[in-house]
Amino acid sequence: MKVIIADQINEKGIKNLEEVADVVVDFSITQEELISKIKDFDAIIVRSRTKVTRAVIEAGEKLKIIARAGVGVDNVDVEAATERGVMVVNAPESASITVAELTIGLILALARKISIADKSVKEGRWEKSKFMGTELNGKTLGIIGLGRIGTQVLKRAKAFGMSILVYDPYITKEAAKELGVDIVDFQTLLKNSDIMTIHVPLSPETKYLISKDQFKMMKENAIIVNAARGGIINEDDLYEALKIGKLGGAALDVFEKEPPEVSPLLTLDNVILTPHIGASTKEAQIDAAVRVANEVKTVFEGGTPKNVINMPVLDKETLQKVKPHFKVAEKLGNFLIQTAKGNIKEVNITYCGELAEFPKQDIITRFLLKEILDPILTEPVNLINAHSVAKNRGIIITEGKRSDAKGHKNLIKVGMQDDETEMIIEGTFNEEPRIVKINDYKLNIKPKGNMLIVKYKDLPGTIGTIGTKLGEHNINIATMQVGRKDLGGEAVMILKVDQNVLKDIVEEVKRLKYVYDVIPINL
Ligand code: NAD
Repeated sequence: MKVIIADQINEKGIKNLEEVADVVVDFSITQEELISKIKDFDAIIVRSRTKVTRAVIEAGEKLKIIARAGVGVDNVDVEAATERGVMVVNAPESASITVAELTIGLILALARKISIADKSVKEGRWEKSKFMGTELNGKTLGIIGLGRIGTQVLKRAKAFGMSILVYDPYITKEAAKELGVDIVDFQTLLKNSDIMTIHVPLSPETKYLISKDQFKMMKENAIIVNAARGGIINEDDLYEALKIGKLGGAALDVFEKEPPEVSPLLTLDNVILTPHIGASTKEAQIDAAVRVANEVKTVFEGGTPKNVINMPVLDKETLQKVKPHFKVAEKLGNFLIQTAKGNIKEVNITYCGELAEFPKQDIITRFLLKEILDPILTEPVNLINAHSVAKNRGIIITEGKRSDAKGHKNLIKVGMQDDETEMIIEGTFNEEPRIVKINDYKLNIKPKGNMLIVKYKDLPGTIGTIGTKLGEHNINIATMQVGRKDLGGEAVMILKVDQNVLKDIVEEVKRLKYVYDVIPINL
């Protein structure tokens, strides 16, 4: 396996990888060079300098994994990677303590006017009375977003004797209780906090979350820190709030445009600006390098990495629960694709019984789609791109849940519609995968070996003729299941046979009088 490390990462990560792969380190590779060389590599590791664009990904014929040694993946075209079935991993945990410490540092620097006091001394002045500060002890800190970083800020702020208010609509009351904090609505946080700090992702929902109206609601002289992402605070409105003296101060580590070359904020004394250094500590860098190197190693060893951005990742406990059903889904998908007669239009999946309660059924759907799509497409289909390949081919995928599993503990029902037919199959896991229904016919078979599905006219003697024909070719019938809807109408025979039924024999059976169709299946 070959890995290219295109940006400077800590050498501990590089050493880890050298144990299992052929590692090429080129911290100054240009975009053009990368496009021409990437075809030889199975993995690429970057920080933020290198842009892993669609052109890079499409040139990476062998590429399996793109690893970003850090949090944000703004420099990776995740959509292009997903389409090509390439995993994108990052190291979101690495910087949590580091960013939290910077946040506390910025809060302290604002409260005690550290950076302007420093500047004043260096310029030869001694202005003791000018730098009257405020204590953090007893003040209220409003934390917006109580994820990895917000939680670390919370722990540190408590040690300073601060009261904490949290606004995060996505965390549960139980989680907040465990951390010993009050979850409040956004307005309550704005109106009651002496200091506010932002730790949410930038999304359409959080873009300009703090603008003119929010500044109006804040306490006089409140201070605000943003070490999350630029664009969450409206910088023009922030400047106005500071200029009119509504706010006591602000600290920004991130900006809407980085660097913020012409921002009026650069002229204000009560503003502290840092150049997006939230994650810049040795410890965070080592941690990120080691983590992504381990992720790449895991992929090379055939495992599933922990932080895949473009695929649902399961914790150990959930994985154990869901894993047996992967095989069932694969068998159902494999069966269905062998029955397809034309363009697939729809795949409708229903998870029944205890499966309906499982989290992340989506991953089971991916196993199923992979089996359906991979045999018919030249592009490789895997668990990462299965959904996007289906979407690009205009195949409608639906997923539903049913509490009733028709007498089984768990059941996956899949209906696949193509230009000509609709096939419905049901499978369950009961110590091993079983197929329990094909269209209207109940059965209970191991999805293994050779099968024939024969559609014929329900007339006396037809079953015998089919059996005889197979016997002539030394095909032994292991089990047979027949069913019909109406007397004398179309009937279906599902045969498990001991030998592979060659194409010529299938054609011969098809030519028998009253036989409509014969579908060989090999599972
Ligand atoms: P996280 O995913 O662990 O936590 C984000 C939290 O925000 C979650 O609890 C979520 O429920 C909450 N949230 C989402 N939308 C919200 C909304 N509209 N209102 C309130 N809460 C909302 O993320 P994290 O690892 O803690 O990172 C937080 C931020 O820090 C991100 O923006 C990340 O990009 C940024 N970050 C910055 C640096 C830096 O160098 N300055 C480094 C690392 C991370």
